[in-house]
Amino acid sequence: MTINKQILLASRPTGAVTPENFRLVETELPPLAEGEIRVRNHYLSLDPYMRGRMNDGKSYTAPQPLNEVMIGGTVGEVVESRSEKYKQGDHVAAMFGWQEYGTSTAPGLQKIDTTHIPISAYLGVVGMPGVTAWYGLNKIIAPKPGETIVVSAASGAVGATVGQLAKQQGCRVVGIAGGAEKCSFVEHELGFDACIDYKSADLATALRDAAPTGIDGYFDNVGGETLNAVMLHANPFARFAICGAIAGYNGEPLVMKNPTLILISRLKLEGFIVSEHMDIWPEALRDLGTQVATGKLKYRESLAQGLAAAPEAFIGLLKGRNFGKQLVKLI
Ligand code: NDP
Repeated sequence: MTINKQILLASRPTGAVTPENFRLVETELPPLAEGEIRVRNHYLSLDPYMRGRMNDGKSYTAPQPLNEVMIGGTVGEVVESRSEKYKQGDHVAAMFGWQEYGTSTAPGLQKIDTTHIPISAYLGVVGMPGVTAWYGLNKIIAPKPGETIVVSAASGAVGATVGQLAKQQGCRVVGIAGGAEKCSFVEHELGFDACIDYKSADLATALRDAAPTGIDGYFDNVGGETLNAVMLHANPFARFAICGAIAGYNGEPLVMKNPTLILISRLKLEGFIVSEHMDIWPEALRDLGTQVATGKLKYRESLAQGLAAAPEAFIGLLKGRNFGKQLVKLI
């Protein structure tokens, strides 16, 4: 008899997420039915979008139902199979959510090759966050060599990838991140030209110095005051990929102070949801996978240990306590 630990959404947060919003339960796994596979999840991905799913309000997608397993990306190994398509030992990426085991008839699963790419990377740079970076940079900002590109949450899963891809395309790249340690990593490990610690600098002044010829492209992960500061330094016809607004995910009001700058500087601001662009995923994943396998693309991970640690790690992610892609190591 195998016991499966799961974390359910117990209640919807008002404001900041608390541990009481989650409930850990243990269930007995039933025998597999014909056509099913069972996967032992090795890593669970924690992502900012999960905060939006915990609300029951207007969004681009349906809310996470109460008393059901929290949504989330996972990678793991097939431990039992009654499907012709999968055998024991296969590695798969899936959306099994916050639980130790996943059982499925396998639609929507992706077989992954861990020969040259670590399994955890399929939840980060060679997974949804990587494709998000690739899409927003290449399809919305579309940088040209010599341009200045700014990215916020620069040490994170998406931001780190955006900056490195923009550097490869001959741009001057400026990151914005919280704290000296994150900024040092962004500059010295990831190779950005500059990184501004928004917690210790006046952002608008620091951007003027770090982007002396103005900003041509901005990859926005944060919204609010960060977006306002970047808009002040945007060059005519700058492109803004509006990817996230994490500064407002707990319900903080985000105000655009100077919307007339959109007109004056002829800015293009385009929001996007990566899951609505499935056509580009194969190309993006091929590119990102090759670059990780050959060591051209760097990334960093924050590991929480064991399923029970997931709620605190998620709360930490929304406060910037993670440093790189936030994962929960389940095995
Ligand atoms: P990260 O790994 O970057 O982690 C989140 C980071 O956000 C934190 O480490 C912190 O970095 C920063 N942060 C947290 N709270 C605040 C705050 N109040 N103000 C400013 N910064 C804050 O996460 P991801 O790379 O996974 O995601 C980055 C963004 O991309 C998110 O906004 C996410 O929602 C968005 N996203 C959008 C997708 C889409 O399809 N549009 C798909 C995937 C992600 P620091 O300490 O540097 O402030």
